[in-house]
Amino acid sequence: MGKTIAVLPPVSASRPADAVVFMDENGIVIFVNAAAEHVWGLSGTAMVGRDARSVFPEALRFDPARRWSAEDIVGADRQVVIARPDGSKAFALSHVVQIRHAGTSGYAAVVQALPDPAGAAEQMSILSLVAEKTDRGVVVTDARRRIVYTNRAFQEMLGYAEGEADGRALEDLLATGRGAADLAARIDAGITRQVPFPEDVPLRGASGNEVWVSTIITPVLNQATGALEHVVAVLADITHTRLMEDLQRQVLAALAADAPARDILDLLCRKVEELAPGVLCSILGVTADDLLTVLAAPSLPAGFSAAVEGLPIGPECGSCGTSAFRGEAVLVEDIAQSPLWKDFQHLLLPPGIKGCWSIPAKLRSGKVAATFAFYFPGPPFAAPWLESVVSVCSDLCALVLERSDTRNRIATLASIDTLTGLPNRRRLIESLSDLITAAGERNEPLAVLILDVDHFKDVNDTLGHSTGDALLVEMARRLKAQLRPGDAVGRTGGDEFVVLVHNCAAEEAARIARRLIDYLAAPIPAQKLHLTMSASVGIALFPQHGTSAETLLKHADTALYEAKRKDRGRFQFFTADLNKRVEDRLVLSVALRAALQSHALRLVYQPQVTLSGVTLSGGRLSGGALHGVEALARWSDPVHGAVPAPRFIALAEEYGFIESIDQWAVEEACRQMAVWRAEGVPVPHVSVNLSPLSFRSAEIVGIIGDALKRHRLSPGDLRVEITERVTMDQNPNAFATARAIDALGVRIAMDDFGTGYSSLSALSRLPIAELKIDRSFMLSIEHDKNALALATAVIVIGQSLGMAVVAEGVETTAQADLLRDLGCHAIQGYVFARPLEAADVAGWLVANTPPAGS
Ligand code: C2E
Ligand code: CA
Ligand code: CA
Repeated sequence: MGKTIAVLPPVSASRPADAVVFMDENGIVIFVNAAAEHVWGLSGTAMVGRDARSVFPEALRFDPARRWSAEDIVGADRQVVIARPDGSKAFALSHVVQIRHAGTSGYAAVVQALPDPAGAAEQMSILSLVAEKTDRGVVVTDARRRIVYTNRAFQEMLGYAEGEADGRALEDLLATGRGAADLAARIDAGITRQVPFPEDVPLRGASGNEVWVSTIITPVLNQATGALEHVVAVLADITHTRLMEDLQRQVLAALAADAPARDILDLLCRKVEELAPGVLCSILGVTADDLLTVLAAPSLPAGFSAAVEGLPIGPECGSCGTSAFRGEAVLVEDIAQSPLWKDFQHLLLPPGIKGCWSIPAKLRSGKVAATFAFYFPGPPFAAPWLESVVSVCSDLCALVLERSDTRNRIATLASIDTLTGLPNRRRLIESLSDLITAAGERNEPLAVLILDVDHFKDVNDTLGHSTGDALLVEMARRLKAQLRPGDAVGRTGGDEFVVLVHNCAAEEAARIARRLIDYLAAPIPAQKLHLTMSASVGIALFPQHGTSAETLLKHADTALYEAKRKDRGRFQFFTADLNKRVEDRLVLSVALRAALQSHALRLVYQPQVTLSGVTLSGGRLSGGALHGVEALARWSDPVHGAVPAPRFIALAEEYGFIESIDQWAVEEACRQMAVWRAEGVPVPHVSVNLSPLSFRSAEIVGIIGDALKRHRLSPGDLRVEITERVTMDQNPNAFATARAIDALGVRIAMDDFGTGYSSLSALSRLPIAELKIDRSFMLSIEHDKNALALATAVIVIGQSLGMAVVAEGVETTAQADLLRDLGCHAIQGYVFARPLEAADVAGWLVANTPPAGS
């Protein structure tokens, strides 16, 4: 075999010669060179005759149960550890090839010694020098994942003394109970894939605190055997990032839960103080007339809040007043020396506050709504994370304030009529209920007068809305002037007022009605004219005409209708024969029931079009995609003709079979949707109206689930519309029903939003995916600042709660344009389409929406 030596790699002069071992086909050593004698610490004669198993004991996984085979030793660059007779070890790379020559075969091993352990130690010390210098934490474990090394950055991160973590299991570092088993499994998976993997994990610091780290975990494997030798983890502290995320989540959750603004801001301050120990925090609001008001300052001295409250902002008004004044951040390094603080420093210096940093939080409009301030026990420090705290907090702060602003607006608008300042219908019903209870207890009569201005529409149409508004304001003033203490007046509709008179029987009520009519008839100066208005009054009395607020109002309304029908400018009591109308309703309800049973009701579908991408050209809107269609019920009776939906829906509610209509509508809309799906008509979803009465039981949930299944629809194909009456209904099941529908995957839209029953807390308790702005806003959105403000508020709320906002009853391109600018998602209205017959939807789509994908 001598000639095969020629194939050995040339021996370079700069390094020791490689050891060479030849074995025969049975792995018996037949030749070794001098370098090999050196590596193995054995003489050539001692080595020749041994077999491969004893020459390469640790490196190659020989199976003791069977004879070794060629694959066991053949391979390049395998790590071998050779135990010498003197007890020392040699580390080497082996390169074994099989050689075939003239019918015989054998093995040639070239073995390259690696640096001796002393050299390795030197390398280690360089590495650990690097590890000690970096600000990343480094942890190394042994094969059993016990920690054998940690660097200084790691010890500082977690508060361990040097060597304190040694011997612990890697998983033990994890904060209690959080996925130690998962981590072990991921390390195992990493080993299998032989790749490092990143992890964000919470660790437990020495003092039990939680430290969030972002790590890269690298399993280090034995090159030869593939077995795990070490786990190396490199860590970066991301606690602050994590806490910020937590903070943000908590604040947003509090917002969604409709917590009061002050509570949320208080939480914000406390959390920031947790994040930055030693630093105190305050949030001061800026009122409309530019005065400071303390919104949250949970840890500042009480005297501070008292002194700051009501201060006008200005160029030298502490850090906050100044920052609000300038509209920019103000940094004061030393409060004791700063001219800005000369009037206030006595408040903060005693508790040990030295520096302050104040940042304005601006509303979308650019107005400074509040200032966010940090107070430092020393000179302010600007850690990079603190900057992110500031930007996140001032955003959150603005969000909270914007929300509370809109909420206040809505709360007031929800119970007060903004034009006249009188209670609105909702508030009036509450007052009436209270008066009824009191009257019942005292056994006193009570009168409900509904008063309607005659021909008001004509005034509006001929003299304009602003004159109409002025008239209403004057009427309201006159009505209020006529009230006795304890009575109430409210505006319940366009030109409709309700007067509640306590302890008042028929004759007294008639006198009051007469007086009101006369008093209102006095000329009102408007536009250099003196207008004489007349009014009609309908009266219902408690207890003889009804004992509930609803009934009394309804009967007073019946009486009013009668008064107007006979002659204007008069009053009319509710009487039994007015109940003829009630009878008529009964007849109609019987016909409606029959229509439902004989399938004479049908649905029409009104497209809802998304506003993004819509363009306005030549007075026409184009380009919007279809958001969905709303299913609306239609009834044409052979005797009664086409009965308007609000009429027959109210009838069905009154006579107790609205549930059947709603169930029919769900079934019919699903059936139609399946037809569209089959025909490839791209309708994203169909929206079905459900009465609050259908939410009293869970029956509707089963009906919906069943219809979807039978028509092979997905839950996203259907949407249901409910109104805020659902929450007014004092029906404990309504929320459960809504949640069950949501759990089916069917989204719920809040219909007629903003019509007066608005309750943000109900909104956050119901799983609402879409808000529909009521049609009544559209009538005034272009002219009336209040309507516009409320519509804006609705859109902002919808957006901040992640809901789609759909505006209803959009009739003009100007309204659509305005809504698009406000960020409204979609619109529904005559400007795009009237409700369509099912068969016409496909054609409408082709003609009016961009083809899918463009
Ligand atoms: P809604 O849910 O608010 O439906 C919108 C109403 O506004 C529809 O009246 C629609 O035709 C009308 N509308 C849409 N765009 C415009 C527009 O640009 N201008 C004007 N002036 N009106 C527009 P519709 O079909 O008469 O329905 C009235 C109400 O009856 C509905 O109000 C809904 O509350 C109820 N309703 C209709 N179908 C059903 C049903 O199947 N079940 C239940 N429970 N209620 C229904
Ligand atoms: Ca609707
Ligand atoms: Ca509506």
